[in-house]
Amino acid sequence: MNIDGETRILGIIGYPIRHTKSPLIHNLIAKRQGQNLIYVPFEVESDAALAVQGAYALGITGMNVTVPYKTTVMESLAGVEELAGRIGAVNTLVRTEAGFQGYNTDISGLERELSSEGILLAGRHVLLLGAGGAARAAAFLCAKERAASVILLNRTLQKAEAIAQDVRAYLEETEAAEETEVRAMPFDSYPELAKERYIVFQCTQLGLYPRVEEAVIEDSAFYEMAEVGIDLIYNPRVTKFMRLVEENGGRAYNGLKMLLYQAVRAYELWTKTTVSDEIVDEVYERLLIG
Ligand code: NAP
Repeated sequence: MNIDGETRILGIIGYPIRHTKSPLIHNLIAKRQGQNLIYVPFEVESDAALAVQGAYALGITGMNVTVPYKTTVMESLAGVEELAGRIGAVNTLVRTEAGFQGYNTDISGLERELSSEGILLAGRHVLLLGAGGAARAAAFLCAKERAASVILLNRTLQKAEAIAQDVRAYLEETEAAEETEVRAMPFDSYPELAKERYIVFQCTQLGLYPRVEEAVIEDSAFYEMAEVGIDLIYNPRVTKFMRLVEENGGRAYNGLKMLLYQAVRAYELWTKTTVSDEIVDEVYERLLIG
């Protein structure tokens, strides 16, 4: 890598940040595209607003934002893309003359993963396990794609209810409230679910390395209803949730492609280029190595 006076800087802010795969992805894309860019992690312990201000002053071209700043960082931006504003979270900041503009490429990353696996949400019944930032993005995607129903199950019911309310408001404004039923329930009431063939998104941290033997629901009766299970976790590659889905006859996917595609979209927004399928495939192969 040649760093010279023309090198532009990209980066990610979050805390903790040392586990991040984003530098690997972006630096490989930049190398393959022959662009004079470098992507670095910035561990920001507390003051994200100051970090964004400093990044802008330093001329940084674009940033990713991860836990715990995806929502709080929004008040430091010049503007926020419409759907990201509705979701209430951004993960990508693009430099503009007025300041950084916020986007949510988690939602487009998940959308592209589903499309690459041939999974259609339109008219389907969907269960979301969890009600954090990732579940919020998944819930809005289900609404955007006009799923027949979206049921959020979470340990803290109020958080699931808050997302359900925001998604219903979005559906009402887009005049699609009749098409998608959205509601929240606690984890332990899953036996009350109608016996459908569901698409299930696992959006909690349970099962993430090193706690690989955990899943938020362990009962086979639940997984018998899962035609497709998508775990947003990608470390380990096969989570306990995924094993339970497969053991009960469903198809299971991890979140690695979502990670890859959200990064590709962010890179395209920063550089106003298109990353070819060939480069995307190469980066995916590299991610599989670990
Ligand atoms: P978050 O905002 O912190 O939300 C975490 C969720 O997990 C909450 O619903 C929380 O429940 C639940 N939870 C945590 N510990 C639990 C426990 N012991 N029992 C039951 N529920 C528990 O996190 P996030 O940003 O949504 O991320 C969630 C997962 O998605 C993470 O594993 C993250 O790595 C993954 N993710 C992947 C991608 C990707 O590109 N593949 C992108 C974003 C996120 P409460 O509400 O009750 O606290």
